[in-house]
Amino acid sequence: MTQAFRFALDPTPAQQRALVSHAGASRFAWNWGLAACQDRYAAEGKWWSAAQMHKRWNAIKKADPALAWWEENGTARILSATVARTAHRWHVSFTVEIDRAVPDRHARPGSTAGIDLGVKTLLTVVDDHGTVTEIPGAKALHAGLRKLRRLSRAHSRKAKGSANRAKAAARLARRHARITNVRNDALHKATSTLAQRYETLVVEDLNVTGMVANRRLARAVADAGFGQARRMLAYKTGWCGGRLVVADRWYPSSKTCSGCGGRKPSLSLSERTYRCDACGLNLGRDVNAAINLRDLAASGAESRNACGGGVRPGRAGRPPVKQEPGTTPRAGQAGAVAAQAATA
Ligand SMILES: [Zn+2]
Repeated sequence: MTQAFRFALDPTPAQQRALVSHAGASRFAWNWGLAACQDRYAAEGKWWSAAQMHKRWNAIKKADPALAWWEENGTARILSATVARTAHRWHVSFTVEIDRAVPDRHARPGSTAGIDLGVKTLLTVVDDHGTVTEIPGAKALHAGLRKLRRLSRAHSRKAKGSANRAKAAARLARRHARITNVRNDALHKATSTLAQRYETLVVEDLNVTGMVANRRLARAVADAGFGQARRMLAYKTGWCGGRLVVADRWYPSSKTCSGCGGRKPSLSLSERTYRCDACGLNLGRDVNAAINLRDLAASGAESRNACGGGVRPGRAGRPPVKQEPGTTPRAGQAGAVAAQAATA
């Protein structure tokens, strides 16, 4: 299988000028052709020493448990290298072909967990024993968001076309990149642990309407994280011999009572506790949703709808789910739009 690795580069001012001349003034990533990339990679000593590179690699390897395999059975062949710039930081990406031993069976067969994705709590996980694990949103993320708001206001106050506006834009972009890094790091650690611990993981589908309708900053950043989390879970469950089940986008995981199966017609985002009038259940909103998602795996519905899952719940009796191909990293789940923006 092929896999990409990304490293940050810290070129000297002279090297930076050379890179910028290649990339033009564009602030967007600019990719070299494959041949040029290989040439550059061969000449990588220009940018950083072998010792620095080694140090970087070791740091990344330690930070992400998913890379532990590298030391055990790391045979890799570099297929291409790409240099890109995001917010004034240069990155080089290597696409490598690796031999990864994927187990036939997960180390903990039968283990299941449902995962609710949220803003304040990044992931709320409930497993088949009822154990609840909450992975908080990184503190740096919240602090970063405050600063981002301030920088965003500062940017909009500057006169259009002015040097000060350009400077403010650069600061804003750097802050964005930093928040993304912190969030992705937290997501990598959490998703690796989950994929190792549970054979079957169930998540909700991405709420496309919510992403478009709610322009609040924290929400926008979190929504980007949802796609990342699901993408990571999809390929990491594959590596561990497990699977990721994605609930249909119409499945009302938040509005359904995990105790009696009753369903509320509406549930506003401000209601953090699920209170059931029918059975008296009183449970945290995210925990209730995670339990419903976990139970989807046991319903067996996914086998009937494995090829698309676009069936609306209620018609066939059971909520449809679909299974992500475990070993295929996928781009964020796009597609039809769900009509549950404010209530899901
Ligand atoms: Zn109930």
